[in-house]
Amino acid sequence: MEIVFSSLDDTIARFTLSGSSPAFANAFRRAMIGEVPTLAIEDVRIYDNTSALFDEMLAHRLGLIPIKTDLTTYVQQDVCACGGAGCPGCTSTYTLSVEGPKTVMSSDLIPQDPQAAPVFDNIPIVKLAKGQKLVIEARAILNTGKVHAKWQPTLVCGYKNHPVITISDACDACGMCMDECPRSILEVKGKKVKVVDGKLPECSMCKLCERACLASGIGEESAIRISAEPDRFIFVVESDGSLPVKEIIVRALKFIKEQSEELEKQTGGISGEDKK
Ligand code: SF4
Ligand code: SF4
Ligand SMILES: [Zn+2]
Repeated sequence: MEIVFSSLDDTIARFTLSGSSPAFANAFRRAMIGEVPTLAIEDVRIYDNTSALFDEMLAHRLGLIPIKTDLTTYVQQDVCACGGAGCPGCTSTYTLSVEGPKTVMSSDLIPQDPQAAPVFDNIPIVKLAKGQKLVIEARAILNTGKVHAKWQPTLVCGYKNHPVITISDACDACGMCMDECPRSILEVKGKKVKVVDGKLPECSMCKLCERACLASGIGEESAIRISAEPDRFIFVVESDGSLPVKEIIVRALKFIKEQSEELEKQTGGISGEDKK
């Protein structure tokens, strides 16, 4: 199995996973979405809310604000030494006190730990008219997307099989497939159509080119054929900013490894075989 990155920064990663099965690719996707913990607001104490929004709606909005997460500082409450009561090792607290007229923004949330501030300053929470007030205290804890979507570290996390485009000798370079391709992947070069250099991963496998070729009157079989590599996948992963995308990938792989080792241990125990 091999992972090759075509682009990687703190927010977005594009990479190819080769020598894998569809089951592993999907497990990897699910681990990135649902098994890598992040901070999100879970408890909100409302001291004053004369805004137009109900308390519940405000708490829901606050929960969806992405929060910078340092996984070396925070642990999940179920494994914290405080036993889940809440302490600086598992809980980050925020205060907010705003009076209208003003739009309350994520930047108005004052974190006790500056390392656990909202990722973006400009997320609107509620609009206050003159004389309206909002005074709250909020607590964020670590948890995973498996429990609630607000703890998902990814905005986009998907894959597709790597496309394969084959062009037979029957191609007469009429260019109809090239005109039909919505991603400008094909070009006529010499006496045949070809894939533009470096553009193959962009193919969506829509097969419009095959249909265009058949419509050109070439006969029963299209000269261009689209298929997919069964063991090679193109991934796009985008972080919501709570964690660098590289950390999401590494932690998801670590999670799968630990789960696999545990399964191996358990099944080894059942069959009585020694762990390899
Ligand atoms: S399958 Fe769709 S995207 Fe791919 S080359 Fe054909 S027309 Fe273009
Ligand atoms: S439509 Fe068919 S014959 Fe025409 S260029 Fe494309 S592959 Fe070749
Ligand atoms: Zn704790």
